[in-house]
Amino acid sequence: MATGEAVRGFCDRLVGRCLRHFPCLSDRARRSMLGLKAALVLLHLGFVGVLFLLDTDLIRKTRTEPWYTAAYLVVVLAALVQYFITACSSPGYVIDAMRVGNQSVNASRNSIQPASRNETLYSSLNNSQLSRNSSRMTSSWSKLVMELYPPGSSSRSWTCLYCNVSQPPRSKHCHDCDKCVLQFDHHCVWLGTCIGKGNHCRFWWYIFAETVACIWSGVLYISLLRSNFLNAWWKILVVVSLLIGLSFCFIFLLLLLLFHTFLVLTNQTTYELVRRRRISYLRGIPERVRPFSRGVRRNLYNFCCSSDSIYSLEAVPSLEELEDRSQRYACTDVLTCRCC
Ligand SMILES: [Zn+2]
Ligand SMILES: [Zn+2]
Repeated sequence: MATGEAVRGFCDRLVGRCLRHFPCLSDRARRSMLGLKAALVLLHLGFVGVLFLLDTDLIRKTRTEPWYTAAYLVVVLAALVQYFITACSSPGYVIDAMRVGNQSVNASRNSIQPASRNETLYSSLNNSQLSRNSSRMTSSWSKLVMELYPPGSSSRSWTCLYCNVSQPPRSKHCHDCDKCVLQFDHHCVWLGTCIGKGNHCRFWWYIFAETVACIWSGVLYISLLRSNFLNAWWKILVVVSLLIGLSFCFIFLLLLLLFHTFLVLTNQTTYELVRRRRISYLRGIPERVRPFSRGVRRNLYNFCCSSDSIYSLEAVPSLEELEDRSQRYACTDVLTCRCC
């Protein structure tokens, strides 16, 4: 009994000490996210580790051709690094876009600081100026957003009920992040963050790196299975089980990669594709018309190489533009590259 209490007391003291050194662990959501990240690293280490433990041929090849093993390890490491980069990147929040778009207001707030000599006067002046600036910031943002929608649209349809901010076209409130996200694609549980305008490109590269690592690992596992190094039944069982796991991962990753490549080439998001009928400004547009697409070439360029800020906004195209895009491509359009 006394031993049980002593063990419990020791565990409590240990947990308390851990929480003091790592305060982030006291939050349940962050704890589960850290657990997920640790599981991901262990999963990668497990798949690579089993290969190096059982594949004598790979170890021999590492001695004769070290570049081959180095290249494989670099691919696995790149997938892990890309995972952490994407998980830690901002998807582009509407509230941040609003702040960036209103930097001139902040500049005017700073400009009054040197003029105020009396501290009390400065404090009251600053407070009133701040509230004035804040309301001015909100109204100028609402005006900016209004211009991005077709004339006659109701502001109620683009005002977020949770954040109380005006959402530019293609934005959506994420209930997991509790923020409105620009060019919202989806909330990724695996990464613990939203995928939006700010990190969609990084997300694509993460899936790409993970797919390549998965294919390469699969090839090494198949060659291990075909070799004569597996002389015990349990070794064969482990390798076959891991190969089945890799096959499922590969199918999932490949489909995801193809799907997101299609989205990139047509400048769409998962949310726009799946919930098209629920988005008020897309409701009347024919299914085959992708309103934000600028052609394959420009879509690809904007996605990969555009130097635009992640807070740059897209307007809903006018009716004339949509009508023009709804025309079917003729042979001359293909020849003149209008389609791309
Ligand atoms: Zn919101
Ligand atoms: Zn989210």
